[in-house]
Parts: sequence; structure tokens; C-alpha cells
Amino acid sequence: MASKKYRNKTCVYCGEAAVAETADHVVAREFFSMDTRANLPKVPACRDCNNHKSQLEHYVLSVLPMGGVHSGAPAAIVNQVGPRLAKNAALQRALLAGQRDRAIMTPDGRWWQGMSLPFEAERLATLGCYIALGLAWHHWRVQIAPSALANARSFTAAGTRFFEDMWDRLDAGGRIAHNWGNGVFEYRGVCVRTNPRVTLWQMSFFGGVELADSEKPGQTSRTLFVATNDDPEWIAQRGARRAGGRASIGLG
Ligand SMILES: [Zn+2]
Repeated sequence: MASKKYRNKTCVYCGEAAVAETADHVVAREFFSMDTRANLPKVPACRDCNNHKSQLEHYVLSVLPMGGVHSGAPAAIVNQVGPRLAKNAALQRALLAGQRDRAIMTPDGRWWQGMSLPFEAERLATLGCYIALGLAWHHWRVQIAPSALANARSFTAAGTRFFEDMWDRLDAGGRIAHNWGNGVFEYRGVCVRTNPRVTLWQMSFFGGVELADSEKPGQTSRTLFVATNDDPEWIAQRGARRAGGRASIGLG
């Protein structure tokens, strides 16, 4: 989509000056039902970033809504997952082959037989990084790239407590908590007062899809955490981090 307002601006995602060609929706319109798509935030993006982000969105929308607990998830399955899977035989095969039974403890303490699907969580993590850069620009006009890097992960209970403690103690220059599409995408974010390129984000999709990691058996997370930072040591550590175990999404 061409837009004069965004043309030749700095790309929010890669930070290159004067390369923006499009106005990119921070979270793609396809995540939302038709009646909640108006006025979704847009940011200037270059063609390469826009294309890469679109590929990630395409994959995430092919699988993630199936784990959704939001009332909008069934519509997303019919409108997004179905048609995308129909056109992608390889992904269909991977989902069938990776389908697993799993035992779930219900709130009243009974065990329930559920199911999980394999999910390339790295792609959701990368998409979460793009979204964080877009949100920082949308809310605070903060250009994070290229001097700062974004890193995303889904935490288990202990990680979440650590993150939330840090959240409370930060000397914030801005805080935002919001949702789009009646809660289909929910998020909160904070940027540091003395350096707004240092930000923290917590995001959930489709009411909080349950994400699991084979390296942390029995522990799941319903939110994605994204941090951005321009500290060279922090960047070196995150850049060296290897991809984790096999991820899956829970289907209840
Ligand atoms: Zn770019």
C-alpha cells in the first residue's frame, strides 16, 4: 500500500534512512475480524522489511489461531488458517506429523487429554520483535533500530516474575497498556526515561495461545515478552543465543 505520508521516511524496522516505501500495519489486518480492522496503527517500512514481516505473519496466521482462546479465534480459523493451510501441503503434513497428545491438569485438579501442534516459535518471536519496534514508534515516536536490538521469548513462571519485577522498578519515560480488535492482540509496554530505546513489551495473541517448549517440559506460557536494548554487551549475548527446543501450541 503506497502512502505519501510514509514515503522516504526512515524504516521503523531496520532503521535505514529514506527507504520507506509502504505504510505497514504494526499487526497485520488479517489478525482481526472484518468489523475491528478500522484505524489499526501503521508505520513507515521499507520493502524488504515489509516482505519479511509478511512472511512471518502468513506463517503465524496459518497455525496460531488454532490455539486461540479468544472469541475471535474461530473466525480466524475459518478465514485465515483454513485457506492458508489449503494452499500449503508441506505445512499440513508437518502439523499432522507433529500432532501430539498431551495431559493437561484442569483447574479442579483432574487430568484431561488434550492435543498440541508443532509450532516454529522462533517465527512468532521474530514477528514479536518487529511489532515491538512498530509499537515504540507508534506510541512514542522512538526509532529503536538500528542502534538497538529487539529480543523476544516466552517465559515460564519464574521468568515472568523476574520480568514483572523489572517492569515495576523501571524509571519509565512512557507506559502503555492497550488491546486491538476486542482483545485479539493485547499488549503493554514501557520505555526507559533516560534512554527510550530501552523498552519492554508483553504481548498476547488470540486471548493468549498456550506456548510450550520441549526443553522446559510441563511449563507453558501465554504471553510473549520482547525487550529492546542498545547496550553492546546485551546485544552480543542475545545475538549468540541459539534457538531453543521444539515449540508447540496447546489446543486444550
Ligand atoms: Zn527496513
